[in-house]
Amino acid sequence: MKKETSGTPALQHSGTPLPRLTSPSVIRSLLDSLGHRPNKGLGQNYLIDGNILGIIVDAAQISDGDRLLEIGPGLGALTQALLATGAPLTAIEKDPAMARHINHTFKGVVLLEDDVLNVNLSELFSGGMNKIVANLPYSVGSRFIVNALEANPLPEKMVFMVQKEVADRLTAQPGSKAYGPLAIWSQLNYEVKNIKNVSPNCFMPAPKVWSAVVRFEKRSAPLADVADYDRFKRLVKTTFTQRRKQIGSNLRKNLPEFFQGLEKAGIDPAMRPEQITIEQWVRLAD
Ligand code: SAM
Repeated sequence: MKKETSGTPALQHSGTPLPRLTSPSVIRSLLDSLGHRPNKGLGQNYLIDGNILGIIVDAAQISDGDRLLEIGPGLGALTQALLATGAPLTAIEKDPAMARHINHTFKGVVLLEDDVLNVNLSELFSGGMNKIVANLPYSVGSRFIVNALEANPLPEKMVFMVQKEVADRLTAQPGSKAYGPLAIWSQLNYEVKNIKNVSPNCFMPAPKVWSAVVRFEKRSAPLADVADYDRFKRLVKTTFTQRRKQIGSNLRKNLPEFFQGLEKAGIDPAMRPEQITIEQWVRLAD
């Protein structure tokens, strides 16, 4: 991790409340005063809809004892709402201008100025952080989620704004077009729900595609116990590169060492990867 700085007193230390950071005019004047233009590569689409903000925070069901992690606080719309819950908050921001702004504006945020893909999540979660709440930048959305799913310990709850297409892949069920590695890795340990589809008009600047708020709630036990996660991951990833090919010939060609296990796992060799349930994948991997 590059740099850790705890929050400095809010600009409004006179006691005046912060302006509402979902207001487009407030965002415009903040960007002007910072001399900053939204960086497309960093997915800087700021949330300008207070209802959606409320839906995100409610979905996290924050209560006493929770410790929160926010990814990409940006100008701070979600940061402001999360701080209002009173729960301790750590935020990771890659853009130095945004990191500086958060540090100067909000008291009480522990800010890590870093690329979230470089951060050791297991370290954060073993330190007691139990919930992630984030309006994720499109560029790192699914990669970050995969990293979080491989952390140890796993967070209890995660609420993310992601591209609608990613939300569809996270929540997909066997037999559907969107079902694949992301659904399998996510749903093994979590119940994943699309809470709300979100229009491009809820952001400034407006992205080209729809987004969705998704919630991950950790299961009391995984759907099945995975003996060797790397093996399980390799099996799923490799077979889905040919998702329409029958699993029998798919394995014979790509991963022959798994072929023998089909019968024991109760999988018909004529099935396609997109029809195989998570429990069957785990049995096959083991
Ligand atoms: N939280 C703000 C909101 O809801 O309006 C901004 C969200 S904006 C979609 C994504 C934020 O993630 C931006 O502030 C951007 O600079 C930051 N970001 C982009 N890539 C990042 C990365 N790899 N690591 C950490 N932060 C990143």
